[in-house]
Amino acid sequence: MTRLVLATQNEHKVHELRQILADLVDELGLEIVGASDFPDAPDVVESEVTFEGNARLKAVAVARATGLPSVADDSGLAVDVLGGSPGVFSARWSGSHAGADAPRAVRDRANSSLLLEQLGDVPDEHRAASFVCAAVLAMPDGSVEAVEGRVTGTIRREAVGENGFGYDPVFVPDGDTRSMAEYTDVEKNAISHRGLAFRAMVPILRERLSPPR
Ligand code: IMP
Repeated sequence: MTRLVLATQNEHKVHELRQILADLVDELGLEIVGASDFPDAPDVVESEVTFEGNARLKAVAVARATGLPSVADDSGLAVDVLGGSPGVFSARWSGSHAGADAPRAVRDRANSSLLLEQLGDVPDEHRAASFVCAAVLAMPDGSVEAVEGRVTGTIRREAVGENGFGYDPVFVPDGDTRSMAEYTDVEKNAISHRGLAFRAMVPILRERLSPPR
């Protein structure tokens, strides 16, 4: 059985990837495990300035430490009028307003509030933004493959909705009037940047992880 390590401590992402790869798991006899199953795997500092660069750092480090193929992702919100920010700083956009130790919901609220303030006088036609996710497969031989998923939308004027996390309450996908925090998990996975990136990974995994004939 081939094991594939998802280079994250976030069990939600492991669960999401398992769902998206369910058919491939049967087809290839794959076992998907999280990095938490490898206590010695390195805790990688996301020191790059692109989503792909950070995903690559994590995937390569975990593939090297475990000797197994590894998938990592990095994602965030890119607001057009802010030149693509918060971008790779999405998780810590409000800096010290909510400390690194604060619960995630508190940090998420602080980040979204700051963004809404920054866009306070930006008219509706200039509030375009995208959620972006880079996913990278690193093989134990050092080779890597990268894909990107992107969902476009606009930033609302107030937060609304209780589901999801991060900037979901302030992001309205194009073609809808609901915020992403008003989507069910299934609805969100169907259109989300992470869903798109992980699904784009499927043919690559099929090619790279199929047993030799
Ligand atoms: P991560 O490093 O991929 O876990 O995500 C970095 C940050 O980007 C998160 O802390 C959120 O602020 C933001 N982000 C990423 N994906 C989403 C999403 O699906 N909804 C809302 N915010 C997101």
